[in-house]
Amino acid sequence: MMIILLGPPGTGKGTQAAAIASRYGIPHVSTGDVFRQNLRQKTPLGLKAGAFMDRGELVPDSLVLELAESRLKEPDCQKGFLLDGFPRTAPQAEALDAMLAAAGKKIDHVLFLTADDSVIVKRLSGRRVCGSCGTSWHLDFNPPPPSGRCPCGGEVIQRADDLAEAVEVRLKVYRSLTGPLAAYYEKRGLLRRVPGDASPAEVEARIKTALETPP
Ligand code: AMP
Repeated sequence: MMIILLGPPGTGKGTQAAAIASRYGIPHVSTGDVFRQNLRQKTPLGLKAGAFMDRGELVPDSLVLELAESRLKEPDCQKGFLLDGFPRTAPQAEALDAMLAAAGKKIDHVLFLTADDSVIVKRLSGRRVCGSCGTSWHLDFNPPPPSGRCPCGGEVIQRADDLAEAVEVRLKVYRSLTGPLAAYYEKRGLLRRVPGDASPAEVEARIKTALETPP
């Protein structure tokens, strides 16, 4: 199964992506996770992407496409994958279609997770992550260890792009560049809308139904 998970930041894409990937035995490919890992390791890619990420802006398409193309060529992606956070612009969506077509493949489903802005802002402002391994918590729903340390020993921090100013930029960027992709996939009959304003378990059940019910 080749699935794209689309939706504004803060709709729980990362949590749901991990659940879907494990249910269907496909790799979870998150361009954001790959950039963050590169940033922690201070690789040239991470350093180039980091400044854009901290401001809440998109990393340039050329960098993203290079990364996506090489990841999707790896053996574990040949039978299927779950894309989380990619594509995010029309040129990325078109490049992905071309990449897959060249290999005789195509996307099966595009899940579009939706939520109101008020829910999004609450989720993002309360999110805390481990600066070392990336585990994530929420101050209200799943508080981090009171010691301020992750079980791995890393420090619990707030992501720079979860600060109010960057969240505002991310939502603006989402609306102008990524939101229009819903129409792109709807025209192709691939879009499944899933309301993300419920508990992770409930959203997971909605996604299962959306994937397993013919359109
Ligand atoms: P995410 O974890 O998916 O919210 O991604 C975090 C940040 O990584 C984004 O705000 C962007 O700066 C960058 N990023 C991740 N994926 C992409 C993409 N497909 N295109 C452009 N920038 C991206």
